[in-house]
Order: sequence, then C-alpha cells, then structure tokens
Amino acid sequence: MLSTAEALATLLSAASPITGTESIPTLDALNRVLSAAVISPLDVPPMNTSSMDGYAIRTADLAAKGNRRLPVSQRIPAGHAPEPLKPGTAARIFTGATVPPGADAIVMQEQTEAAGNEVTILHSPAPGEWITAQGADIRSGSIILPAGTRLTPQALGLAASVGCAELQVYRRVKVAVFFTGDELTMPGEPLKPGAIYNSNRFTLRGLLEKLGCDVTDYGIVPDKLDATRATLREAAQAHDLILTCGGVSVGEEDHVKPAVEAEGRLSMWQIAMKPGKPLAFGAVRRAAHQADAAASAETFFIGLPGNPVSSFATFLLFVRPFVLLLAGMQTVTPRALSLRADFTQNKADRRNEFLRARLNAAGGLDLFPNQSSAVLTSTVWGDGLIDNPPNHAISVGETVRFIPFSELLN
Ligand code: AMP
Ligand code: MG
Repeated sequence: MLSTAEALATLLSAASPITGTESIPTLDALNRVLSAAVISPLDVPPMNTSSMDGYAIRTADLAAKGNRRLPVSQRIPAGHAPEPLKPGTAARIFTGATVPPGADAIVMQEQTEAAGNEVTILHSPAPGEWITAQGADIRSGSIILPAGTRLTPQALGLAASVGCAELQVYRRVKVAVFFTGDELTMPGEPLKPGAIYNSNRFTLRGLLEKLGCDVTDYGIVPDKLDATRATLREAAQAHDLILTCGGVSVGEEDHVKPAVEAEGRLSMWQIAMKPGKPLAFGAVRRAAHQADAAASAETFFIGLPGNPVSSFATFLLFVRPFVLLLAGMQTVTPRALSLRADFTQNKADRRNEFLRARLNAAGGLDLFPNQSSAVLTSTVWGDGLIDNPPNHAISVGETVRFIPFSELLN
C-alpha cells in the first residue's frame, strides 16, 4: 500500500499547467488563474493624498513664525488638481484630495478653528502627518499579482485599482465525468429494489465547478465494456481530465478498469487511507487527428472509489490539487490548523484516517459519531477533516491536524 504522501507526490509530479491562455475582461475573471503577472503601470495612490478632512500646511511656517493663524488660500476637494500652496497660508482640503505642492502635513479639522477666511492651527503636526505618499501602496512597475494567482474578488479589485481592464488567464480546465454502477438511479426516477441514488454525481460536479472547471457530465454510463470504452474515447478528445467514480475496488465487476487499460494505461493504487483506499490513475489516448502539436497525445484519467465519503475525501486530497496544477496554480497545499480534540478515539487504525470533525464554541473539535465511508451526513455536519496518522489513537485534549473544508473546497 502507498502512503497518502507517496500517492500524492506521484500524482502531482504528472501534472503541469495546461497550455491555452486567453485575455478576458477583469470583470469576468473571478476564480480564473493568471497566466501572466499583473504589473502596475502606475503608483497607487498616484499622487500624495490627504487622509483627513482638514488643512494642508507647511510645517516650517508654523515653526518659523510661531504664528498659528493662517489665511486660507485655496479649497481642494477630492478629484481636483490643486495650485501650489502659497507660503504662509493653509489650504482647505478633504479626504482623498491631492496634497498641494509645498504642503508637508495635514492638520485634521478637529484640531483647528476656522474664522472667516482664516484658520487657527491648534496642533503642531510632524512632517508627513495625515499624508498618504504617492506610491505608498503600490509602486509603478511592481508585480501586484504573480502568474498562477487564482483571482479572488479582492485580487480583481487590486487589478482594477491600477487600471487593468483585461487579464491574461489560463483557459478553464476541461473535465469529463461519468459514473458507473447498475445500482445507480437519478433523483426524480423511482428507486427500484437494490438501487441507490447517484449522489456522487451531485457532489463531484459541485466540487469540480467550485474549482472553476468546465465540466462535461456524461451521467451514468451503462456497465458494459463497449459503452465504457466509447465514452472514454469520446471524452479523451476535448478534455484535460476524465474523472469516474465507482468500480476501482479489488475484484470489482465494473468495466472501468479494462476499458481504460484498452484505451490507454492505468495504475491501480491502494492507498493507506480511510476513507478512500482504492484510486486509479492513468491516461486515455487521443485519436491521431486530434493530437496536433499543441495538444497532448493523451488525456489524464482518475478513477475514484464509489463510496460517497471515499470519493469526496479522495477528490479533496488528490483530485483538487491535481486539477489546480493543471489550472496553472503553483500553491495547492491546503493549510491545516493545530486544534484540540474534545473527544477520545481509542481505536488506532493502520491507515491514515481523515475524520469528519466540527469546530465547537470552545475552540476545540467534536467528532462525528459515525465515520463510515458510506455516511454522507458526516460531510455536511463537519467543518473539515482531521488528518490522523496511521496507528494513532486520539486522547481528549490532544492537539490534532485539522484541514478545514474552506481550504479544500476552493
Ligand atoms: P464501488 O466503488 O463501485 O465498489 O462502490 C462502492 C459503494 O459506493 C457501493 O455501495 C456503491 O453502490 C456506492 N456508489 C458507487 N457509485 C455511487 C454513486 N455515484 N453515488 C452514490 N453511491 C455510489
Ligand atoms: Mg460499483
């Protein structure tokens, strides 16, 4: 059996960013991955700005004259270009407005007394007080978003703040998905004896869509070798990855394994993890006419186990980082937290367990009572997975490694 880390390292070493890129409007770029760095063409702020409503002055005027009463020589609202500040005067200024050349501090209006066309300064400001210097946030020519960044709302705002109307991004990763198992029924259809609903179709499609993939869903493929091979051949043409679920266990009746072997190559892995364990990784050949110079000659294949929690967990731990590397991202390791276990798990398992757990109000973790790989309830109840090493029982109060779903679902 492979350790989780060995399986992950082998899988990720096969992934590299897809080649296609495009230029798209910044407004439409949420969740896309930058293929080129965003370099600021300007300083932000582009000029010295006032961060208070008040008066712009020259500190030397106050020091030299000891005179705190200054005539007000101009009024500068935000968005208006000021005149240079006349020596020995103050300029009325507002938040966000350009500091006039010559002024070196802003005195907030609460520290002044205005009378007619004059203002008395009741405070001795240090040079630079309440002035945000040109370029204090961003310097012209600096990289504000490196290539490989997935665009969050804040990243879009940052790109827009330097005037970027378009961004260079990788095209979306194209994933084909299908499901096998004669027991599978779609919600909306009557459930015959021995049948179950195809819940994984909903979970896996949702997971892929949350990662920003372009998903082709072939639904339930009949459990026949010819049908499975035909679906694989078709899916290989226009996709980067084919994902299936079910039929990768040992002694399985399904036709996924022989079909992928016939259409490409396949490694069947036994991973020392729970839930999970079986995972199939390989590739399906593309037809010769499709394999032009730019395109790869094959499409990746990943086969997940059918048990709902197993497919969910193996997706989060293996498929997610693999897809994000294809998508052009560089950092795909989820950040884990060290948190206190507020439960006892007496029985140590030989395998690396990924336990569904929830954060409690005391800042510790509670464990879902039923950790069976068929119990999907645990994945909705939980806030994340405890990564419990092999052969390790957990005592109450112990610190455990917790990977929140917030780190795994994006
Ligand atoms: P398998 O990996 O095909 O041996 O399936 C393991 C278990 O997962 C069996 O109980 C299947 O009925 C169940 N299962 C397989 N595919 C799905 C699916 N798409 N949705 C829900 N359960 C499934
Ligand atoms: Mg099956």
